[in-house]
Amino acid sequence: MNAQAPNPPPDRLVTGKRAEEDAAELALRPQTLDDFIGQKQVRENLKIFIAAAKGRGEALDHVLFHGPPGLGKTTLAQIVAREMGVGFRSTSGPVIQKAGDLAAQLTNLQAHDVLFIDEIHRLNPAIEEILYPAMEDFQLDLMIGEGPAARSVRIELPPFTLVGATTRSGLMTRPLRERFGIPLRMVFYEPAELETIVHRAARVLKMQMAPDGGAEIAKRSRGTPRVANRLLRRVRDFTDVGGTRIVDAKAADFALTRLEVDGRGLDAMDRRYLACIAENYGGGPVGVETLAAALSEQRDVIEDVIEPYLMQLGLLMRTPRGRLLSEAGYRHIGKTVPKEQKQQLDLLTGMPGDGGQDEEA
Ligand code: ADP
Repeated sequence: MNAQAPNPPPDRLVTGKRAEEDAAELALRPQTLDDFIGQKQVRENLKIFIAAAKGRGEALDHVLFHGPPGLGKTTLAQIVAREMGVGFRSTSGPVIQKAGDLAAQLTNLQAHDVLFIDEIHRLNPAIEEILYPAMEDFQLDLMIGEGPAARSVRIELPPFTLVGATTRSGLMTRPLRERFGIPLRMVFYEPAELETIVHRAARVLKMQMAPDGGAEIAKRSRGTPRVANRLLRRVRDFTDVGGTRIVDAKAADFALTRLEVDGRGLDAMDRRYLACIAENYGGGPVGVETLAAALSEQRDVIEDVIEPYLMQLGLLMRTPRGRLLSEAGYRHIGKTVPKEQKQQLDLLTGMPGDGGQDEEA
């Protein structure tokens, strides 16, 4: 694949971002912490904090999940409410436009309820100011009216748990981040965990899945359950139409290859991204804005969806001066590192803590 590859369809198959069709995934959501596969550390910590809060008869402290899209942040937020035995309300940062929108959500909460705010890094700063006293003292300070007649009112709120989710905790203001007593970092799933997720989803979808079929889909799912479930449904389309009854590795490989998802889960867009750095920018370093313009892709899609997985695979490094293709990155698109670039890479990778995985760079 090279930079001249045709544009991928707008709905990328391997993006962790939520799409309309994913409503079908509701049935696939695990319901309890014990059902939830993977994220062992997050799960174990949550179990303790939930047991402690319940034991004291208190609301759980505010929780912040951060990590790439599709790893189960929303699912865990719902599980937290269920395990606490409390109500669940959900909204998202960009949806809350006015103070009144937030006030309506907060004043409708019952004691100990969970309010989930997705994409919390996209909250309007004026709304954030209202959230601080609500989180800290369970008080809402609102201005009513305008001009000289304006007055402020204070509303007492029941103790509640704010569960925030963000793909980019680095974009959150420090005062907001610090008001979460329980920050939890979500990591990409191991292939074995994804395999379990794929087999479980196949059972829900009444598909007959051979063990090697599940393994093939898992290894091409970018470490992301949402992608695994989506690939599974597309494989089902191919096998249904082709009359395959049992989905084995060969059938899965056939479908995924047709969908241009390669052996490590990269799609045409990922390869275009790698090829663009190699061919147009000599392997980097190149700034993300430049890449976004060159690829006609939004910057946040590049930073949230494309790059984290490429970095996880070691194909890409983020440096203070921009994005840099690694030797493995060149290899993945069938190229070798040019001599001048090799020197630069050797220097960087030889440095202690080379900053290659620095999430907030
Ligand atoms: P996020 O909020 O991080 O974008 P979601 O919680 O919406 O991710 O999860 C995306 C989909 O992946 C869900 O519909 C759910 O079916 C599935 N999923 C996520 N985590 C798991 C898991 N640990 N086990 C099984 N399925 C999961």
